[in-house]
Amino acid sequence: MEILMAKEAGFCFGVKRAVNIAERTLRERGRAFSLGPLIHNPQVVGQLREMGLEPVEGIEGVGRGPVIIRSHGVSRQLLEELESKGVEVVDATCPYVKRAQRWAASLSRRGYFVVVVGEEEHPEVRAIMSYIEGDGMVVEGPEGAGRIPRRRKIGVVAQTTQERGRFGEVIKALLPLCEELTIYNTLCEVTSKRQEEALRIAREVDCMIVVGGRNSANTRRLAELCSRVQPRTYHVETEEELRPEWFRGMRRVGITAGASTPIGTIRRVRDALVSRPFCGIRREAENL
Ligand code: SF4
Repeated sequence: MEILMAKEAGFCFGVKRAVNIAERTLRERGRAFSLGPLIHNPQVVGQLREMGLEPVEGIEGVGRGPVIIRSHGVSRQLLEELESKGVEVVDATCPYVKRAQRWAASLSRRGYFVVVVGEEEHPEVRAIMSYIEGDGMVVEGPEGAGRIPRRRKIGVVAQTTQERGRFGEVIKALLPLCEELTIYNTLCEVTSKRQEEALRIAREVDCMIVVGGRNSANTRRLAELCSRVQPRTYHVETEEELRPEWFRGMRRVGITAGASTPIGTIRRVRDALVSRPFCGIRREAENL
């Protein structure tokens, strides 16, 4: 059995940065809080908890110590509330997410009806929406464009981890609805590259493994994309979930991982497969 490893797998720049900021804060302060889990990976959240990072549901759960803002950001109102209560804020919002928030604010200030292409309930999308000062709406796909009223000016931004093709389809659906359409491409290049590579590998293999937290939207999207071209796609959090029957008779297996999956976890999944007889790695990620 041959294994094809994705080169674009594991922590992205924004997640690495957030984890580094959290570790540095914990070393200096001994204790800190995050509003919800810092990243969507239960194993990493567990390690950070041992270092003193406590995920809390809301501002009322915050005790003595700084609050670390997650890579996908928080709403403007929540930031203002934290500041008004004198809570020390350590902002680990990914700069690409900040950029999407800034463009949404700028569009609304210039009188555009702002459309955010993304998952309505995702914290990143909720945070972007909070920066809109006028009217705006979230649409998940081109079918959602039917709910948007005709406007003279429509401005569009995307949740950073959206799929490029879907973003394009929404833009096409918006064209007949307005006279002026302004688009800011707020897609994260890291995610787009990862999705394109995962799709390429999934087409070449007999079975595809996607590693990452089940609560990670970008990992779930990777698995969903891969399953469109490779029905034998399995989403696992750790190597313990691998089932021998998945690989029976398989000649080639692909591995990719979400942006919040630590390298150690990807390595363990790879090693669990490599330990099988007659297995070899054909293409190994440079970061492994
Ligand atoms: S996926 Fe992209 S936008 Fe999201 S945290 Fe990572 S680098 Fe930032």
